[in-house]
Amino acid sequence: MNTKNSVSKIIFRTLFANKCASCREITYDGALCKSCEKEIKLNEENVCKICGKPIERCVCKILGSRYYVKSISPLVFENKVTSALIYKLKSRGNKEVCNYLCALMYRKINSEYKNISFDFVTEVPSTSKKKRRKGFDHAYLLAKELSRLSGIKYKRSPIKRVNMGQQKTMDKKKRNDNANKSYILKRGGSIYGNVLLVDDVMTTGSTLKSCARLLKKAGAKKVYCITASTSKGYK
Ligand SMILES: [Zn+2]
Ligand SMILES: [Zn+2]
Repeated sequence: MNTKNSVSKIIFRTLFANKCASCREITYDGALCKSCEKEIKLNEENVCKICGKPIERCVCKILGSRYYVKSISPLVFENKVTSALIYKLKSRGNKEVCNYLCALMYRKINSEYKNISFDFVTEVPSTSKKKRRKGFDHAYLLAKELSRLSGIKYKRSPIKRVNMGQQKTMDKKKRNDNANKSYILKRGGSIYGNVLLVDDVMTTGSTLKSCARLLKKAGAKKVYCITASTSKGYK
């Protein structure tokens, strides 16, 4: 190979190469470099069978009637690499990151929801203002990719997000009230059967609860949730 050719090849590969979502090392393909991938913490041990959180952080009691059957997450949020993945997904809609998270989520679906026959997969929606500003809705990207992997039909969410309140700065009560006011059913919004509800992170579970309640109101028989990661929940 002549030098000119190989130099331009290197430049090309560097310009268009993927960088690790966590340490920015060039990976060429995939969302993470090999060493960051090893640091990922899978949410597999001592997990609550209902809210899917590590058992010491179970939110089931505090949430009360939750409207969804169960929630699962392949990752725990308090991990540098997981936070970086979620950040890249939310801020950029990064495809490699979306695919990486969905592969983990799909594996989790196959182990935890293997006996359930789903009619639809849908997402926890963002506000339209946010969607317009960013140009994408990260939970929609996850739901679409999960639909492609699993063959479960995607259905646009019959729910609309209306409130711009930043939930992450609120305490648990405010968060619950806010989640209740933040989501409404679209006019004529309907759905049926077993629904898989998708979001990026489960924090207190109040968002999933509000959306599951509305999905059931819209006609869903049962709602099962999956999020890419799960965080501390109530402190
Ligand atoms: Zn890395
Ligand atoms: Zn629980």
